[in-house]
Amino acid sequence: MGAFERENAGQGRKPAAAGKAGSSGPAGDRGPLRRFLSAALDIVYPEGLYCLCCGDIIEPSRRHGICDRCSSEIYWNISDPLERDLDMFSFDGVLPCCRYGYRPRQIISGFKNGGRPYAAKPIGSLMGERLFMSGLEADIIAAVPMHRDKLRARGFNQAELLAEQAQLEYERLGGKGLRYIPGLMQKPVATDSMRGSDAVKRRSLLHTSFSLSSQYADIIINKRIILADDVVTTGSTADACARVLKEAGAGRVYVLCFASGSGWSPQYERSDLI
Ligand SMILES: [Zn+2]
Repeated sequence: MGAFERENAGQGRKPAAAGKAGSSGPAGDRGPLRRFLSAALDIVYPEGLYCLCCGDIIEPSRRHGICDRCSSEIYWNISDPLERDLDMFSFDGVLPCCRYGYRPRQIISGFKNGGRPYAAKPIGSLMGERLFMSGLEADIIAAVPMHRDKLRARGFNQAELLAEQAQLEYERLGGKGLRYIPGLMQKPVATDSMRGSDAVKRRSLLHTSFSLSSQYADIIINKRIILADDVVTTGSTADACARVLKEAGAGRVYVLCFASGSGWSPQYERSDLI
């Protein structure tokens, strides 16, 4: 059981028992633009038509865009993979939907590098459901930021799209009070050149490469913040972001991601999937 789950023991939720949330309320600040973008994604991406992993046609009832066969090859809903190392990190817990194995790699690769920004909808929805089911309550959800050069090259920050979709799904399931703040953090320093650096150097470089957008300095004080990203592996990026938020006065910082690769023992590996 992760730290956040201990804190919220007994408060876990089941989506099936939840009523459908209205769009009003403290987190219901959906403007016309957000509604339009959601509708546009529905047109570009006919929900449940093709599996995000194998591309097979799937039943429209499969809500998250993954066929039954591929889904059975994914380790879902794992506990906090970095729990044993939490003292090393500035964040207070990690909520992954699944382990970063072969199928999740396919999904994330297609999403980020294969020109499929529409995949944010099913992936982000899974993250929203994961957050809701954890029972963890938070005030703000925001994305791990991307440097402007990378943003220009890719055309979108996948973490930003996921944060927005996760908030929408969380609210749809009945979650309250979670506000999505686009651009809460910035990444003024590019860190692509860090590839190959050792962990210590990487950590020290990362520490100085993120910042809080100044207009939100007052808003985050003592707040519980969910930091969204597609994948968490070493935890060093999330740690650097969480440190910035904590130093700026945030109360708690939790990481919500689609897949996580850390903290897994060899016995959990399945050779047929790797
Ligand atoms: Zn499939």
